[in-house]
Amino acid sequence: MNHIDRNREFAGKTAIVTGAGKGIGYATVKLLRERGARVIAISRTTDDLISLRDETGCDIVTVDLANATEARAAARDAQPVDLLVNNAGIAELQPFLDTTVESFDRTMNVNVRAAMIFAQECARSMIARGTGGAIVNVSSLSANVGFALHAAYCASKGGLDAMTRVMATELGPHNIRVNAVNPVITLTPMGEKAWSDPAKSGPMLARIPLNRFAQPVEVARTIAYLLGDDSSMVNGVSLLVDGGFQAC
Ligand code: NAP
Repeated sequence: MNHIDRNREFAGKTAIVTGAGKGIGYATVKLLRERGARVIAISRTTDDLISLRDETGCDIVTVDLANATEARAAARDAQPVDLLVNNAGIAELQPFLDTTVESFDRTMNVNVRAAMIFAQECARSMIARGTGGAIVNVSSLSANVGFALHAAYCASKGGLDAMTRVMATELGPHNIRVNAVNPVITLTPMGEKAWSDPAKSGPMLARIPLNRFAQPVEVARTIAYLLGDDSSMVNGVSLLVDGGFQAC
């Protein structure tokens, strides 16, 4: 296999990144732009997207992915694309006994349903064009570990991993690879919201052999690996980016 020139790795490719306004999505857009992709950045807050466009030269679309009709229209309008990163996610912390139906539904709608809708529209277009493609779903260590207060969130990420495997099975024959990336706590606005209390984050940190939380760019690099030709035979995996949390 040929040597990959990192600056040109995604030259000629178009990528969608959802939830691009902050955190892991923001870092992923920056990295994909640095590596030559055209990027369509999708998120909910226009000001965030304008900053991202100014910094990286990406295209931007403001949409609330909790709305299925708007999500589908945005996904259709963005075609044709070669790469999709389903990154948008929300975490609303509630004790299991107090988890509301509204919060559960909102979490599933953004974290799982919107990912399905975007992947359907991208894959239909890829199949019609016969180009193949790659899709990465941003899941979480929470797919595998039952963190207190995270019932809806853990359910959504477990669901996203399961859907990733089905997509890999059904889309693989069309040369579309689908994988998930499963980070530990990552230092983004979401990570800080959920884990800012040292009484909570200290014991968590103690369970990570590398003894630190992840940086957004470390997750972005793993996403880029799964999107690119370096992972050309990798399909249907949920790849932990957890500093060894689950190894011990
Ligand atoms: P973040 O800092 O909260 O950023 C999430 C981005 O997604 C924001 O730009 C947000 O826009 C956007 N978004 C949320 N809901 C949306 C909606 N309904 N429609 C459109 N855009 C929406 O989160 P992050 O930490 O970067 O997380 C990114 C992904 O990584 C998520 O799927 C998360 O579950 C996963 N993850 C995060 C961690 C962590 O510790 N940070 C660990 C494992 C997995 P607004 O700000 O405008 O709402």
